[in-house]
Amino acid sequence: MTPRIETFLADQRPATPCLVMDLDMVRDNYLALARSLPQARIFYAMKANPAPQIMGMLAEMGSSFDTASIYEIREALAAGAPASRISFGNTVKKQSDIAAAYALGVRLFAFDSQGELEKLAVAAPGAKVYCRLRFEKSKTADWPLGGKFGCSLAMAEELLVSAGQMGLDPYGLSFHVGSQQRDAGEWDVAVGKAAMLFTSLRERGVNLRLLNVGGGLPGHYLTEAASHEEHASALTAALHKHFGNRLPEVLIEPGRSLVADAGMIRSEVVLVSHKMEDGPRWVYLDVGKFGGLIETMDEAIKYRIRTSKDGQGDTSRVIIAGPTCDEVDVLYQETAYNLPDDLKPGDTVDFLSAGAYTSTYCSVAFNGLPPLKTYCV
Ligand SMILES: *Cc1c(COP(=O)(O)O)cnc(C)c1O
Repeated sequence: MTPRIETFLADQRPATPCLVMDLDMVRDNYLALARSLPQARIFYAMKANPAPQIMGMLAEMGSSFDTASIYEIREALAAGAPASRISFGNTVKKQSDIAAAYALGVRLFAFDSQGELEKLAVAAPGAKVYCRLRFEKSKTADWPLGGKFGCSLAMAEELLVSAGQMGLDPYGLSFHVGSQQRDAGEWDVAVGKAAMLFTSLRERGVNLRLLNVGGGLPGHYLTEAASHEEHASALTAALHKHFGNRLPEVLIEPGRSLVADAGMIRSEVVLVSHKMEDGPRWVYLDVGKFGGLIETMDEAIKYRIRTSKDGQGDTSRVIIAGPTCDEVDVLYQETAYNLPDDLKPGDTVDFLSAGAYTSTYCSVAFNGLPPLKTYCV
């Protein structure tokens, strides 16, 4: 918890659950990334946390934005980003949304299939298009993105050749090494494969100019991960190794790494119970999977947890669950979390580094519960 978040919570005592974001830390994260990757343009993956204050601040600082829908494009424009600093990075788009984005001035689009190219050729003539590559699902990413998006290298090559023939500008390649990527060694393989494709396409008369390296840099959860600096230097080394002095324009799309550690969810204990005499202790909170903590699915993301009773007596193993009437609303059952034995209804339970993929994943009104409120301080 940052001092600014601590002060806000102590002074304001907001109703729980809520997410509190420290804008200074988002700014610092952005500046640190820009410093460690000076050759890359930063496109914030706004799906991680599109709070208007975050968007406005990043737009003012010169950030670009990776968007996934026409709604996000409108939000990015409203935050002050010009269309020239917005990419439509989803490889699955309605043709009418491509046309709407194009009319608003967006000229940079992702694709990974023939069908999407056909839509782009009609609705975004002449636009810069980049092809998303599909790699093996990463074993060192806690939230992998390898299955649903991207196409094979061979297919990407053919698609980029035909993009030019269809009146589009075959601009480059993209990939995503998997979100919450803990291993900085993954960059070398990905960049190496992309570089091979740059070469084979050059031989076919297609000059790619962009390498979009996606996101993947981690937040600070229980499972150890390489630091942002280690990631940045491994990526830089991979770029130089595989592209030599023919470095393309590099674009990076951080989501989690800019906002995760800058936010904290404060929740409250609703009930502590046992289901049988010698059974485990269940701790029910006022936040759960439907309140924004969906990345606890399969216990993939293991948040660091603090309580208002920490340091006061013994702790023991608990099962942590959310408040709603759904069986799946259990946060941690397999992972060993030990919380104070004296924990009681009304005590606070904080989820650290919860600034990414929480407020946006929250349900609208399941069980009538309002969506997670965000405060930016
Ligand atoms: C979600 C996403 C990102 C952000 O990934 P992080 O792991 O949060 O940094 C970047 N690019 C694309 C295309 C994405 O879908």
